[in-house]
Amino acid sequence: MNLQIKVLVFDLLVIGIVGLATYVEATRGAVLALADVVRIILTGVLAIVGYSLAFAVFKSFLAGMVGFLGLGLVTLMVTTMLYKRMAIDPHHGQRPLGRVLGGLMGVSLGVGLSLAIVPAVAQVSTFIPRIDRSYLASRVLDALPAVHDAADRLNIRIPRVRDRSRKFRHESLDNADVFTSRINFRKLDGATCVECGAKVEFRGYKRLKGTIVVPLFVCPECGRTSDGCQTFEGFHRMYRRCPYEMVVRGIPLDCGVWPNDQSIVPETECPVCGRGAR
Ligand SMILES: [Zn+2]
Ligand SMILES: [Zn+2]
Ligand SMILES: [Zn+2]
Repeated sequence: MNLQIKVLVFDLLVIGIVGLATYVEATRGAVLALADVVRIILTGVLAIVGYSLAFAVFKSFLAGMVGFLGLGLVTLMVTTMLYKRMAIDPHHGQRPLGRVLGGLMGVSLGVGLSLAIVPAVAQVSTFIPRIDRSYLASRVLDALPAVHDAADRLNIRIPRVRDRSRKFRHESLDNADVFTSRINFRKLDGATCVECGAKVEFRGYKRLKGTIVVPLFVCPECGRTSDGCQTFEGFHRMYRRCPYEMVVRGIPLDCGVWPNDQSIVPETECPVCGRGAR
């Protein structure tokens, strides 16, 4: 296969998902399509709640997935039973206008499903350059920072495979997203800059490459950039240590994801543990 076709495959995947959802829901009509939207949103939300709960207790992706599938399947079964009981009459939704409305709901369902399926496919790293060069599939990945932002606002955790640990001195572009979806970075807006002690600004999530999405913090006073590690609160949260400990151990203090090319020694007191007080 030449490259053009390999790229096209991923666009066809998105077109296929959205097209199929549109066709199915237009056929079912507005009433049943609305029932599907409600069922899928409920299932998705509760599956993620199941993941968060199981992950919070057992601290592992596998346990999280069991919670995800468990609560997801139960929700799917309960809603299906409820719908049967309600004996929904699809008739009104199947006039021409109803089919158009059903089709539109199918489009949004298809887009929502793409947001789950394309990132899953992109876990195969050899696909990433092709997805990046595609027209539609790359837009789906471009929407990922917004998904993380929404998750932070709702304070929920997005299930992810690459949920492993990392040491500060191993911080780099390749493992930049280790803490994304584990920490609510939005809450670190206004954390204290390690260089000058000012309150840093959370500039949102950015997509680096593939599905790697990382937060960006910028200090309005000294301009120091980081993924949160160049703040006292962020460092404590990410590495369960104080940035001052790195200095004592001779590890240069700079961000491996958004480097400043200048490591520093903090001069202000750490607001979390009080180190560096004069
Ligand atoms: Zn600063
Ligand atoms: Zn500290
Ligand atoms: Zn960093």
